[in-house]
Amino acid sequence: MTGEESSRRPRKIVHVDMDAFYASVEQRDNPELRGVPVAVGSPAARGVVAAASYEARKFGVHSAMPSVTAQRKCPDLVFVKPRFDVYKAVSLQIRTIFAEYTPIIEPLSLDEAYLDVTENLKGMEIATEIAAEIRAKIKATTGLTASAGISYNKFLAKMASDQNKPDGQFVITPKNGSAFVERLPVKKFHGVGPATAEKMHRLGIETGADLKERTLDFLVEHFGKSGPYFYGIARGIDDRLVRPDRVRKSVGAEDTFSQDIHSFEPAREGLQPLIEKVWGYCEANEIGAKTVTLKVKYADFSQITRSKTVSSALSAIVDLEEIVALLLAPIFPPRNGIRLLGVSLSSLDRRRSEVTPQLRFLL
Ligand SMILES: [Mg+2]
Repeated sequence: MTGEESSRRPRKIVHVDMDAFYASVEQRDNPELRGVPVAVGSPAARGVVAAASYEARKFGVHSAMPSVTAQRKCPDLVFVKPRFDVYKAVSLQIRTIFAEYTPIIEPLSLDEAYLDVTENLKGMEIATEIAAEIRAKIKATTGLTASAGISYNKFLAKMASDQNKPDGQFVITPKNGSAFVERLPVKKFHGVGPATAEKMHRLGIETGADLKERTLDFLVEHFGKSGPYFYGIARGIDDRLVRPDRVRKSVGAEDTFSQDIHSFEPAREGLQPLIEKVWGYCEANEIGAKTVTLKVKYADFSQITRSKTVSSALSAIVDLEEIVALLLAPIFPPRNGIRLLGVSLSSLDRRRSEVTPQLRFLL
């Protein structure tokens, strides 16, 4: 199919998004947490909320909020340690369900994905029925609820999945796409972060309708490469394809410490759980890696990275530990207290060629 044909033919895109994912998994597995405001994350001084239950959201607690702020907004907030291995296992379950319907799946994170169901493996005509079936299967298999957005492009499908959350779905047809966008505040647009929203606000753009009034030249002048994207979505147009094989370029983990680090041994200890996390991910997904990068952020927020590339993929966690220690040693004594350390692996390769389809979606 040529690009022209693909953009002319109406597509059926479903965006599936688990409801308060990490928090819902914790409430599922621990009945004492049900009905209680829950934050997944560390309550420590520099911790942040990774996910908040709906009970917590009523108090204004949301993900990426500093834990201290969250606790202040909701004094009864219960903090739960994240269990990423469990979230990954659930993620694999939902992706297996998606794969019954279409091979064209683009995960955005563990709990969210775009599905192109224009041509689907069940021969179903109605995308809203596909979305309803998928949500029912997710509920039956995992005990968790998901919401879905159904539309003719990715942007609108993503916006639609938010409309009837939790445990709901919403469809935006080609006929009402443009009107839907006009009413939407731009700060809710996918692809418009807080900084861009603020810039739009300064330019007098508050809603999709305001955005639609601006010319393409104006949007390119003020938003550069994103200009054409904003110009399109203001009209309900988004030709981006659902990309099933978006392969990860790196796997990393980092941690901000509650107290600045000044010596080698505590730094090495602080790095150990990060090493285990990234190594565990690579093992689980059969990814080989040749490049190790250490990231160091100082108390004054300046940052350095140090990398080492080896000739063949690392074969054991001790090799990774050794390289990290080699990269770490020369930075001591540090010019300033160390606030954050991170480890990432890149130059990735799938270790085996015959990766199962389900696993492929995790990469
Ligand atoms: Mg979600």
